[in-house]
Amino acid sequence: MDETLVAVKDVKKYYRLQKGFFSRKSLWVKAVDGVSLEIRKGETLGLVGESGCGKSTLGRLILRLEEPDEGTILFEGRNILEADAEGMKALRRQVQVIFQDPYSSLNPRKKVSSIIGEPFAIHGLAGGKEREEKIIELMEVVGLRPEQRNLYPHQFSGGQRQRIGIARALALRPKLIIADEPVSSLDVSIQAQIVNLLIDLQSQFGLTYLFISHDLNLIEYVSDWVAVMYLGKIVEWAKQEVIYEKPIHPYSEALFSASPSLDPLAKKERIPLEGDVPSPINPPPGCHFHTRCPLRIDRCSKEEPPLTPRPNGSLVACHVR
Ligand code: ADP
Ligand code: MG
Repeated sequence: MDETLVAVKDVKKYYRLQKGFFSRKSLWVKAVDGVSLEIRKGETLGLVGESGCGKSTLGRLILRLEEPDEGTILFEGRNILEADAEGMKALRRQVQVIFQDPYSSLNPRKKVSSIIGEPFAIHGLAGGKEREEKIIELMEVVGLRPEQRNLYPHQFSGGQRQRIGIARALALRPKLIIADEPVSSLDVSIQAQIVNLLIDLQSQFGLTYLFISHDLNLIEYVSDWVAVMYLGKIVEWAKQEVIYEKPIHPYSEALFSASPSLDPLAKKERIPLEGDVPSPINPPPGCHFHTRCPLRIDRCSKEEPPLTPRPNGSLVACHVR
């Protein structure tokens, strides 16, 4: 399949910080600073990058939980930023989210059945017995037992709670699921079960995923495409097997070399990253990565490199490579 479900074009989201007591000018956090990417139907785009680089903000913009300052976001070719009330209602059904912490995203005072049934209630769909049947079916699909439906979230383990969140996300048969660090708060032993469930559900329901994580092994496992983000920008966007074989951008290269590989035979030379992650408040000019880049040249601090296609099919934003 090679049909685009979501197309993000030149999207920016800046947050204004409270002015300091002695400061005259406002400071801006450039959380998402000109991002373009596409997510194809039935595939998984893995979005990876260090904490604070703007991954969750990008997810919230696609969910239209927030409005971008600039740019367009197309869902099935339609600009979601221009959607009217009806268009937004349709979008709310078609795009769902799974959060990192299932506990804080589940109402502790509600029974599992009403948590999973909530989307039906919100959209006025499937009442009474039909809703009960759908809830039971959803519980079975995600590996929960129907007799658990009258329990409360605290009566479940972390992995089971994430299953509840997944069932709720699936209720309205969405097309796109944004999974934002969906297993980061779970024990390692449980992570694989949840990830494999998400992969099974993808083929069962023809789902498209935006899978957000800082865990490179996980991203390798789940993704068809990978986008590497650094300080609000995509620095490399490539097929999973291509970027894991040989990343091009110096940041991707350093990031991937620092991650312990699942393959014990893979020999990787660790490339150290100089310095700390600069702040997204007033990020460095030119290439945002130049302050830490071992390959930097003069131009990198002056001119911002655009994402350009490379012979291996990847898109890379770098003046040197
Ligand atoms: P990630 O998910 O990659 O860790 P986020 O998208 O959560 O990154 O955040 C990107 C940057 O934007 C961070 O510096 C964060 O502090 C800042 N940020 C996110 N949301 C807000 C907000 N509502 N107000 C101000 N700053 C924010
Ligand atoms: Mg995040």
